[in-house]
Amino acid sequence: MLTNFLDHTRYPESLIDSPATGPQSRIFAGAGAKVDVSTGVGLSNSDPIHWLNALQSFHGNGNMPIEKLQELDNAIGILRLEKYIDNSISSEEQTGIKSLVRDCYYWLRPLFPVSFRKYLQRMALRGWDSKAFPAWPVDFTTEKLMDAIWRQLLNAQTPKELPFIWFWPEGQSSCCIMTHDVETALGRDFCGTMMQIEKRHGIYSAFEVVPEQRYEVPEEFLQGIRDNGCEVCLHGLNHDGHLFTSKAVFSERAKKINAYAEKWRAVGFRSPVMYRNLSWLPELRFSYDMSVPNMAHLDPQHGGCCTVMPYFIGDLLELPLTTTQDYSLFHILQQRSLDLWKKQIAMIQQRYGLVSFIVHPDYVTEKWASELYNDLLAYLSELRSSQGMWIALPRDVADWWKARRQMKLVQQGGAWKIEGPQAERARIAYASLGANGVQFRVEKAQPIAVAR
Ligand SMILES: [Zn+2]
Repeated sequence: MLTNFLDHTRYPESLIDSPATGPQSRIFAGAGAKVDVSTGVGLSNSDPIHWLNALQSFHGNGNMPIEKLQELDNAIGILRLEKYIDNSISSEEQTGIKSLVRDCYYWLRPLFPVSFRKYLQRMALRGWDSKAFPAWPVDFTTEKLMDAIWRQLLNAQTPKELPFIWFWPEGQSSCCIMTHDVETALGRDFCGTMMQIEKRHGIYSAFEVVPEQRYEVPEEFLQGIRDNGCEVCLHGLNHDGHLFTSKAVFSERAKKINAYAEKWRAVGFRSPVMYRNLSWLPELRFSYDMSVPNMAHLDPQHGGCCTVMPYFIGDLLELPLTTTQDYSLFHILQQRSLDLWKKQIAMIQQRYGLVSFIVHPDYVTEKWASELYNDLLAYLSELRSSQGMWIALPRDVADWWKARRQMKLVQQGGAWKIEGPQAERARIAYASLGANGVQFRVEKAQPIAVAR
C-alpha cells in the first residue's frame, strides 16, 4: 500500500487509514485514456502529460479514498521505472531503423571527423525542444505526485503537520554528486589533473572506468583514484553500445562486469551512453546505479525517471542524472557558460533534491573547459557553505539511503523518534500545507520552508 510514497518519505504506515472494503480500482479513466495504473498499460507513449496532470488534480481537495491515493502512488512507479515509454529492445522503434542507424554510427564513428559527428547528433535530436514531457530542463512530475499524496493525507487528518524522515543526513538541504565517465586514454590521463582541481575546493568525485577494449587500466591508475579519496565505478564492459542489445548479451556481460566490480572493489555502475533496461539492471551486483536520466531529450535513448530524488529498483539504489551532461552543453547546446547548470541546480534545490553531474575528463582538457569546470566546483563549494548542500561520494549517498530505508518513525511518550541504523544522523521533518502548497520543516536544524 502506497509503497513508493512510504519508501520515499518513511512516513509512518500506522498513520494511514486501512483501505476501504471492496475491489480496488486499478483502472484510471481520464484525459481520454484508460490506464492500468499498476502496469502503465494503456498509457499513450506520445503524451502522458495529460494523464499525469489529471492524476495530480483529480478529486481536487476533497478526501480521497485510499484506492485513489494508490493510483497516484502507482503512477510514481510507472515514471521512475520509465514504463510510460517503450524502451525495450523488442519494440519496433529499437529493432527498426533507429537501431540500424545506431549500429552504423557506432561502427563508423571513429572514421568521422568530430564536426560531422556533432552535426549527425544535432540532426538526430531535432525537435527535442518542442517536447512537453518530460519537462526541460528538469522534470519534477514524481515530486508533484508525492505532493498530491501529501495534500490528500493532510486534508484527511486532524494534525496540521505530518512527520517523516528527512531526505539527507544531519538535516542538510540537498545533495550533490560529481561523476566522471572516462571515455578514452586522453580522459584517463586527465583524471589526475581533475582530482587536483577538485581538491582545491574540497570536492571528491567518482570515476566511471571502462574495463575492456577502450584503454589500458593499470592498477596504479585505480589506486591513484582511491588514494585521492575518490571512488572507482564501472562504466559498462567495453562501451561498444551493445550492452542492452539482447537479454543473452546482457547476462553474459553482466557476469564479467560483476567480476570486475569485485576485483576493483567498485559498488557503483553507470551504463555507457545511458543505454538501459531497468528490468535487467538487478542482474548487476552493485549497491547503486547511475544510468537513468531525469529527462533524456538530449540523449540517444529517450525517456527519463521524472524525479530528482534517489529511489530503489529492488535493492539497487538509483541515483538519477539530474543535470545536462557536459558534452550536450558544450556541443549540442553550444554553450560555454554555467548558466544552464546554475538554473538546474536552483530548481533542484527548491525540491531538496539530488544535483548530479557527468563531466567527462575527455571533454574538459582544453583550457576554457577546465576553467569552466573549476568555476562550477567553486560555485558548488559556495552552496555547500551558504545553503547546506551535502557534496558526497555516490557510495556514501547510497549508504545513507540504504540506512534510511531501514529507519522507522516510532511514537514514544507522545513524541516521534527515529529508530534504526545511523538514526543519530537522521532528522524528523514535518509536512504541512502552506499558502503555496505542501511545505516541509526539518526538526533540530535550520527550518527550511520554500514556497512553490
Ligand atoms: Zn561513456
